[in-house]
Formats: sequence, structure tokens, C-alpha cells
Amino acid sequence: MTDQHNRTCGRPTRSGNPCKVRISGSDVACGTHATEQDKAVAEAHRRGWSEGYKSGSESSATFSRSRIERLEQRVKELEEQLDDAKRVYEIDGHQVVDVGGYAYRWRGSTPLEVGDRVLLPENYVSRMKSGPGPTLGVVSKLGTTYRGPLSDIVSRAPATDG
Ligand SMILES: [Zn+2]
Repeated sequence: MTDQHNRTCGRPTRSGNPCKVRISGSDVACGTHATEQDKAVAEAHRRGWSEGYKSGSESSATFSRSRIERLEQRVKELEEQLDDAKRVYEIDGHQVVDVGGYAYRWRGSTPLEVGDRVLLPENYVSRMKSGPGPTLGVVSKLGTTYRGPLSDIVSRAPATDG
């Protein structure tokens, strides 16, 4: 679950910057940017919480618990649909992939696949952990839902065993 405090909408605005409007509770995006699907996700969250509240105040909670599990499942499905709806696979004509939870742009000629090993540019954290130079990563997902600036993958990692 994402941080419930100090969340902002984060949807792309006309200027290209993420929307800074604060959102709270179950909301997925601000009133301006929430789609019907966002509202359905938020509503399912809210319903899940009020069920949870009720089950806490009643003594026989088994029925409520299975209902909560169903709602949690539904929330998960909706979140996955939302992810699909927001996910882009190319930005400015370049492939975008997820490596260990971060989005990177790939300017290589052959598209990357999930499981491909790549060299990532050095950053502040990698320098602290493993010194200067690119670090090894594995493509974990194709595409991204992130809309901020992206770093470029340095290259494919050399194969270890031919
Ligand atoms: Zn917004």
C-alpha cells in the first residue's frame, strides 16, 4: 500500500508536471483527474474499510471477514486494471522498462524483455553501495506508470555463460 499521508494526485497536467493537489483517504487522484475507474477503486477501498470497522465492533466477524477478503480481491483487480490503463511502454519513441521498481528508458535497437540483464547508470545510492560505475539490474516489467524524468539504461549486461 502506498503512503496514506501527504499523498498528491501525481497525474500529468497540461504543463507536463505531476499534479500537486493533495489527496486523502481512499482517493486515487484529485477531483479534476480522477477517472471513473479511479473512483471505483476509491469506493471499493472505502467500502472495505467500513466493513472492517463493522467487523471490529461486532463479535461474530466471520461473515464480514470473507466479505472483506472479497472486497480486497476486488480492489486488487481494480488496481491492476488501473495500472494497465496508466502503463505506457514507450516514451518519445523509446522503450520504457521497470528495473527493480524504477523506470528506465532504453535507447537500444532491439527491445528488452522481462528477465534481461542490463547495466544501469551510476547514481547516488549505487555509488554508496558498490562504488562508481554502472550497476547490474534485471528488467522486472515492461512499461511504466511513472511520469517523471527517466534515466537511460547504459547497455545490455554482458552474458555470463554464453
Ligand atoms: Zn490532479
